[in-house]
Amino acid sequence: MKQSRYFLKTSKTTPADDLSINAKLLEQGGFVQKVLAGVYDFLPLGLRVLQKIENIVRGEMDKIGNEMFMPVLHPKENWEKTGRWSGLDVLFKIKSQHGNEYALGPTHEEIVTPAAQAIINSYKDLPLAVYQIQTKFRDEPRAKSGLLRGREFRMKDLYSFHATAEDLDEYYNKTAMPAYEAVYKRLGLDALLTEASGGTFSKYSHEYQVETENGEDTIYVCEKCGLAKNKEIFEEGAKCTNCGKTSWRETKGCEVGNIFKLQDKYSKAFNLQYTAQDGSKNIVLMGCYGLGTSRVMGVIVEKFHDSKGIIWPEAVAPFKVHLLALNGAEKESGKIYESLLNSGIEVLYDDREVSAGAKFADSDLIGIPYRVLVSAKTLDKQSVEFKKRNETEAKLVNISDLASYIGAQNQKQ
Ligand code: ATP
Ligand code: MG
Repeated sequence: MKQSRYFLKTSKTTPADDLSINAKLLEQGGFVQKVLAGVYDFLPLGLRVLQKIENIVRGEMDKIGNEMFMPVLHPKENWEKTGRWSGLDVLFKIKSQHGNEYALGPTHEEIVTPAAQAIINSYKDLPLAVYQIQTKFRDEPRAKSGLLRGREFRMKDLYSFHATAEDLDEYYNKTAMPAYEAVYKRLGLDALLTEASGGTFSKYSHEYQVETENGEDTIYVCEKCGLAKNKEIFEEGAKCTNCGKTSWRETKGCEVGNIFKLQDKYSKAFNLQYTAQDGSKNIVLMGCYGLGTSRVMGVIVEKFHDSKGIIWPEAVAPFKVHLLALNGAEKESGKIYESLLNSGIEVLYDDREVSAGAKFADSDLIGIPYRVLVSAKTLDKQSVEFKKRNETEAKLVNISDLASYIGAQNQKQ
């Protein structure tokens, strides 16, 4: 991508009313633009990151469920059936010009449960799992931390359907949990499995919390085994449910996922039943599994940055290479750009007519993992300067070896 033709402008102005690191760096770096509190444009550069995150999530979820896509606009009746039309404070409600009322989906139990009625008849149809990656709406009272707390945000939500409590347990522990771990690992995030309140329908739910200085949640991490507990359920002197020890470390976390055993809460409300082997009718049991993909993008920035800008983990970086052409090296840079593209490498090519200083500063701010600098100085030696965003030393690399050199870096990751 040629930067001179890219829908991108970095900025030196910090957001006036949002002090979070992710809001500052993502807005200044030209990844997102604020439309109103908690609502952002994802500009082309930011969309690339979001899509990489969502494709990693999709890749792991496809192993444990089927992707579908549900609407944002929900009938009021469905939310009345579950008691959440009046019971959920963050529900956005809208009235049409015909006087009908709707909810904007903050989560999709009210849609997926009736949808499953047409699919599930017999015990032979179970278990099943379905997921989507969707835009969610929540009327959050405070939306002041960039992508961490949106009023309009992105979420992956998966729902599972089971005949028995044992089968729900098995799916929850042995299928969903490993899939979540695989997602966070691929994203480069260390997410702590955290016991949290399960609401009214289960003893615990499990959150995945990433330790962040400015996290909204207080969590206690077991010093022995690493299992965490959310403060809201934590009792002084409590034993770790995993290893039995009682030594805890208090820290701050940001919730990047939450999984629940819903049991029969929503299936009862919609009378979602299956016929068992003996002919009896039983209520289907459900689990739900959320993961905030846009929040993950914010958390990654909170974790991976320095005083100059973002340092994207390779797996979610918008481009692999930031190619900077200095004065007098335009022609050769253009050729290098074409050859890297032909080798299948994702390149942002800074071909703008701005100072070298401005190019360096923007490159550090945007945080693409590899920077390739083409200048008259090294062209004499048929070489370019290669530097990783998280290192200070540049290396001279021969132009004819550049694509394979970059390919070899990828494999080291
Ligand atoms: P929180 O406690 O942070 O308000 P929640 O427990 O209400 O979140 P869930 O209903 O569990 O959220 O949603 C599943 C996931 O969606 C969360 O783990 C989080 O990653 C993400 N998420 C929830 N609310 C928001 C939001 N307002 N903005 C961005 N992501 C969100
Ligand atoms: Mg939650």
